[in-house]
Amino acid sequence: MARYTGASCRQCRRERLKLFLKGDRCYTDKCAIERRAFPPGQHGQARMRKFSDYAVQLREKQKVRRMYGIMEGQFLRYYKEADRLKGVTGENLLGLLEKRLDNVAYRIGFANSRCQARQIIKHDHILVNGKRVNVPSFNVSVGDVISVREKSRKVEVISDSLEAVARRGVPSWLEVDGASFLAKVKSEPERQELTMPIQEQLIVELYSK
Ligand code: SF4
Repeated sequence: MARYTGASCRQCRRERLKLFLKGDRCYTDKCAIERRAFPPGQHGQARMRKFSDYAVQLREKQKVRRMYGIMEGQFLRYYKEADRLKGVTGENLLGLLEKRLDNVAYRIGFANSRCQARQIIKHDHILVNGKRVNVPSFNVSVGDVISVREKSRKVEVISDSLEAVARRGVPSWLEVDGASFLAKVKSEPERQELTMPIQEQLIVELYSK
């Protein structure tokens, strides 16, 4: 599958927002946003233009897409699925993104970033309901138990990440037992627990044109 291979910090600078794509580094003063909070490129520091409605909507979509590390086509498929479901389309969209296995592995502290979570999933370290799942886009359901394979519990990035998760906290729809390297999906994700500044309505407006 195609994926973005450029510099992660560049994406944060483009959105003028910490997207937390690099794990521990994002919490230090080495974070590029702390040093250069303006878009990359030759004209990055030019005076802010007034953005059109379309540009504002596009930036919102790009921000969320980059936050979850999803390519354009797949993001559009999530939107169509969210639109098909009952309820508020924007909230459905965020719910679907939150329930991706790579996001869940990051939220429960098996990895320090969604990118690292994708890697540990692809390397067969993660089990869902006792079965190996190596697809980062796998959608978890309420009641699913996510765990680290017995043999993989000594993998440094996983144990280190479990220690570091306290800093960002685990959302209440997930229940983690760090000592046993497992977590349970207790309920559907709650919109109010997404603390990043996301205006999902703008994404709906963009795609509804
Ligand atoms: Fe973004 Fe993290 Fe890089 Fe900071 S260190 S710019 S939050 S990816």
